[in-house]
Amino acid sequence: MKNYYLIIGLLFLSFHLVTAQKIKSPSEFLGYELGSQFSRHADVVNYFNHVAENSPMAEYHTYGKTNERRPLTYAVISSKENMAKLENIRGSHLNNAGIGNNQSDSEIAIVWLSYNVHGNEASSTEASMKTIYKLITEKQDWLKNTVVIIDPCVNPDGRDRYTNWYNQVKAEPYNITQEADEHHEPWPGGRPNHYLFDLNRDWAWATQIETQERLKIYNQWLPHIHVDFHEQGINDPYYFAPAAEPFHEVITPFQRDFQTRIGKNHAKYFDEEGWLYFTGERFDLLYPSYGDTYPTYMGAIGMTYEQAGHGRAGLGIKTDEGYVLTLKDRLEHHFTTGISTVEVASKNASELNNEFQNYFNSDDFEYASYALQGNSDKLNALKTLLDRHEIKYSYANSGKISGYSFNSSSTGSLNSDENTLIVSTNQPKAKMVKVLFEPKTKLADSLTYDITAWSLPYAYGLDAIASNKIIPGSEKTSVNQIENKANPKAAGYISKWNSLQDAQFLADLIKSEVKVRFSEVPFESNGENYAPGSLIITKSDNRKLENFDSKVIEIANKHERLLLTTETSFAGSGPDFGSSDIKIINHQKVGLLKGDEVSSLNFGEIWYFFEQDLNYPVTPLNSAYFNRVNLNEFDILIMPEGWYSEFLEDKNLEKITSWVESGGKLIAVGNAISNFIDKEGFGIRENKTEEKDTTATEPNLIPYAKRERESIKNMITGSIIETRLDNTHPLAFGYEENYFTLKLSSDSYSLLSNGYNVSYIKEPKIVSGFAGSEAVKNLKNSLIFGEVPMGEGSIVYMVDNPLFRAFWENGKLFFANAIFFTNNTGYDY
Ligand SMILES: [Zn+2]
Repeated sequence: MKNYYLIIGLLFLSFHLVTAQKIKSPSEFLGYELGSQFSRHADVVNYFNHVAENSPMAEYHTYGKTNERRPLTYAVISSKENMAKLENIRGSHLNNAGIGNNQSDSEIAIVWLSYNVHGNEASSTEASMKTIYKLITEKQDWLKNTVVIIDPCVNPDGRDRYTNWYNQVKAEPYNITQEADEHHEPWPGGRPNHYLFDLNRDWAWATQIETQERLKIYNQWLPHIHVDFHEQGINDPYYFAPAAEPFHEVITPFQRDFQTRIGKNHAKYFDEEGWLYFTGERFDLLYPSYGDTYPTYMGAIGMTYEQAGHGRAGLGIKTDEGYVLTLKDRLEHHFTTGISTVEVASKNASELNNEFQNYFNSDDFEYASYALQGNSDKLNALKTLLDRHEIKYSYANSGKISGYSFNSSSTGSLNSDENTLIVSTNQPKAKMVKVLFEPKTKLADSLTYDITAWSLPYAYGLDAIASNKIIPGSEKTSVNQIENKANPKAAGYISKWNSLQDAQFLADLIKSEVKVRFSEVPFESNGENYAPGSLIITKSDNRKLENFDSKVIEIANKHERLLLTTETSFAGSGPDFGSSDIKIINHQKVGLLKGDEVSSLNFGEIWYFFEQDLNYPVTPLNSAYFNRVNLNEFDILIMPEGWYSEFLEDKNLEKITSWVESGGKLIAVGNAISNFIDKEGFGIRENKTEEKDTTATEPNLIPYAKRERESIKNMITGSIIETRLDNTHPLAFGYEENYFTLKLSSDSYSLLSNGYNVSYIKEPKIVSGFAGSEAVKNLKNSLIFGEVPMGEGSIVYMVDNPLFRAFWENGKLFFANAIFFTNNTGYDY
């Protein structure tokens, strides 16, 4: 009998040894010591596959594909016993958040580790491989009550952009001199994704494919702790939470406290090794689109870890203090905090579960419901966003809803009907509803460098009332499908112009060689009133087109655009279709500047807008060869935000000016405008409320310690301001008489005297967010959007970037108007 047990025991032991041996360490698998090279993304994926194939403690899944077709992946690891009942654990966990029907409570801690969201902060993906290996082979005890989800690389396109470049240029052996080329990434750098979006600003808006796909899995798990691994400048050793003020008011005392407890556990390990770190500075918890705030507002403890390094450090670099910082050090630090986080979770699993439940039980909200009205395209865009966050909504009954009116910033009401959208706080995602919808975010401290306002009714251009009572709503059952029918007797078709979807429809028509007109003035046809900007597609313009009717109908149905068919070009009132007020829309060829002078973020936003929002071709032009570009190939040149003073010094200003004078259209966004201040013909001046005597030297009595705080008087980093609109100008077609702009800087330009002020501020009225007192004064009588004619052409100024992070949905139509309608001269057919 003894022998029998011995044999069983030996078999059992050898089975364990075999499984343990079968999992190779990252160094064994990759064929080089971890940290001695940057691993290619594909090799990282192979390693995670290897682990999952050889361990009953791991699963590995693909959750999507990037723009450049790299896989987005995550591993789930836990004890063998837990892995066998993973769906049960997940269901019980969601039950604690009030989601789903699973009745049993969970005692398992869920930790989610997200690596390498910024592609050139590349040590963390290396750390992810060591982390999964050590958790499975050495830290099995913690996994008995903990599920760990590992996303080894949130931004594969950015990571490979950085590591491929580094591998090409690095010296052998690597060069630690800061001046070496391997420490100077070329434009645009590996930080952002394919479209050059910062994925750590995109969680709440979910405009990028990586975020959209990740949120589907994130919502299936809603972890107790989420960690976002980053890197910072080479001279700042290591940062971990607790975070800095301002904290959003929905953050609970427990969430604050637990951040500190995790931080103290890291500190213990760092102190043992003599590694330096700092906490409680610089990184605040307010803007909801970060990898720490978003999870926090979804009930997690959201942690940011920042290692010295990023795109500068390579495999090794000498810091200003004279130390050599290596990739091996960097990944070791991230490995340590990752493991330490899992340890804290495991040791406090029960408390995490109780407090997670409490987070979702809160019902103390100033506003209980939001009622939203607007055109169906804008409402649909909002619903798409709510679906991504799995936030529930319903439709109002008819009646009157009173409360805080977003439009007037005071008490008001709206008459509701079955199309009025209701979003309420009596649901699991209540706190996220508050964060995203409330008209004003409470700021405990205004010292923050990101935007301080984002309220969705303003961003989506909707009429909204915030009510302190729950507004009852019901599910909508019937959906009206738009189904236009061809009419062989049609003289033409008319379509309204109110939204980005209308612009997509127009872009598709133009690409399909259909000639389209737009009206510059209101008109009436067959008893229906049409505002300026309405599209008119006539048979006579399209005589050469085969299947004209069916083609137009097909495109309209695809875009769900309602067409009015008219059998006559004779208008009931206003111009007939042959009038000069009804203009042909030219097939615009668009050039877009990129390169060293250009803000990669803003270039990316515009690029994304053309390819993914509007679906209209754009030609990127690099500033490096701009002097050889034949501008006559283009109708429009877009200058994104950037630093163009040297670029414009040579012949380039002359080249652009003469091209505009002969009919070109220049669109200058944000601080690109500053390059044209006081330049002849450009009609743009800086706005100063009073002439200051700049020669006088006043004594500076601001205490040194207050220098940063004092500077915020002059700052605007993102607040919402009401502007007036001249919606008779083509740049503002489809808009009402006011517009809420997201003011992104304190830059202020005078109202145009030689052009059209289309969106402008008379008396600045901040409706949401922080704006420094001095900066606000400077906004009096200032321009937001305008047009200055120059010769045959014109210049469109967009002082606020309406495509910022692609989330200010209501600004996008301005951009389409600038392309298709503004100064639409001549015929190019
Ligand atoms: Zn980062």
